[in-house]
Amino acid sequence: MSLNAESTAFRSALEVIRAVEPRVADAIGAELADQRESLKLIASENYASPATLLAMGNWFSDKYAEGTIGRRFYAGCQNVDTVEALAAEHAKELFGAAHAYVQPHSGIDANLVAFWAILADRVESPALKKAQVRQVNDLTEADWFALRRELGNQRMLGMSLDAGGHLTHGFRPNISGKMFDQRSYGTDPATGLIDYDKVAEAAREFKPLILVAGYSAYPRKVNFRIMREIADSVGATFMVDMAHFAGLVAGKVFTGDFDPVPHAHIVTTTTHKSLRGPRGGMVLCGPELADQVDRGCPMVLGGPLPHVMAAKAVALAEARRPDFAGYAQRIVDNAQALAEGLLRRGAKLVTGGTDNHLVLIDVSGYGLTGRQAEQALLDSGIVTNRNAVPQDPNGAWYTSGIRIGTPALTTRGLGAGEMDTTAELMHTVLSQTTPGANADGTPSKAKYVLDPALAETVSKQASDLLAGFPLYPSVDLG
Ligand SMILES: *Cc1c(COP(=O)(O)O)cnc(C)c1O
Repeated sequence: MSLNAESTAFRSALEVIRAVEPRVADAIGAELADQRESLKLIASENYASPATLLAMGNWFSDKYAEGTIGRRFYAGCQNVDTVEALAAEHAKELFGAAHAYVQPHSGIDANLVAFWAILADRVESPALKKAQVRQVNDLTEADWFALRRELGNQRMLGMSLDAGGHLTHGFRPNISGKMFDQRSYGTDPATGLIDYDKVAEAAREFKPLILVAGYSAYPRKVNFRIMREIADSVGATFMVDMAHFAGLVAGKVFTGDFDPVPHAHIVTTTTHKSLRGPRGGMVLCGPELADQVDRGCPMVLGGPLPHVMAAKAVALAEARRPDFAGYAQRIVDNAQALAEGLLRRGAKLVTGGTDNHLVLIDVSGYGLTGRQAEQALLDSGIVTNRNAVPQDPNGAWYTSGIRIGTPALTTRGLGAGEMDTTAELMHTVLSQTTPGANADGTPSKAKYVLDPALAETVSKQASDLLAGFPLYPSVDLG
């Protein structure tokens, strides 16, 4: 029997790798097996298509291409130009953006590019102006000193980490929290929702240069029209980091006030989360910031990754197909079914539900920390991650939450019925796990007690559930 193209491609690739370092080939094969077997509810992960994966494994990886399309610091970049232009074109069409910069290697890199572009555009600095018009040699030591002083301490207002914001939005341990004079807005303690009046008040008091919206763990839509009005009212540049929900924007689930692209001055994203592309980042903006954004490499980034840009072009072409909108809608339908199933069984959810791809369970309702819950679920074949909840009493390490998301399982084809079964399995494990004690008898935030027989039963039920929805059904490694 002849094999299909995907199976042949991956089998051949592994054979070539095996001839050099068989342990790497084995690990690649094992990773597919593990992914096939796990009920993956990690909100930031997905499964890219075979075409996207294959576009990365080739000689584009060998090419240096610093600069931009048609203006490179290296010779011989015509084919890189082709794939970078295709990725940018698809991104612009998909998101309705005037400009797309597809070189960032990751979401964090995309944010650094955006921060730089905004600083360069906004900061009143005669020294910076001189530096920008390529009079670098004319700058004196005093000019450089002034430039560093003027660029530092600029103000950023972003969503706090425990309310669901991202560490690159001014959180202290990240470079953004050290470069910028930072304040954050949280969520309403009663509802768990963003209180736009409070954001406006914080903006009026603090007068940020940059207002950042976007999140990694907020289970609701954000009204970007209102956020833009707030930014405009204080003269801030409005940046949206849509890393988590770019697939919902691409699939037109988030439209109007909830589509960041028409409202923000600049939008950053990853390409590997709900957007279902290769690992990487991207920046979208209007013509005003385009030149500064295009300086991302070598200003902030190392040489672009042409093989990843090729894969971005493939994945973005996929996201432009009509069926991607159906996929995006199913992600949200599944998240809502999962939330419903959990609520019905008595789980406590931050904001009481979801209108995006993720659900945040407050596991203090089960008497557990996030860390205990995460491990107990993992023992039972359910892969999640612990996450702080707003005003978390257990801090960012132990936490009180479990974040779950549906982009990956939706790619596998699971639907609302399977989400209810998933909720049942999760509730069974969480309600039958109890906190453990330290050696001296004090309560532990990490140890827990779960009957291994129960964990095994649930693992079996989870793998039975997945059996009907094979991952990469076209790939048979033999
Ligand atoms: C995941 C994420 C990032 C970082 O993406 P990386 O590719 O891991 O660097 C940035 N911002 C937000 C909001 C994210 O969720």
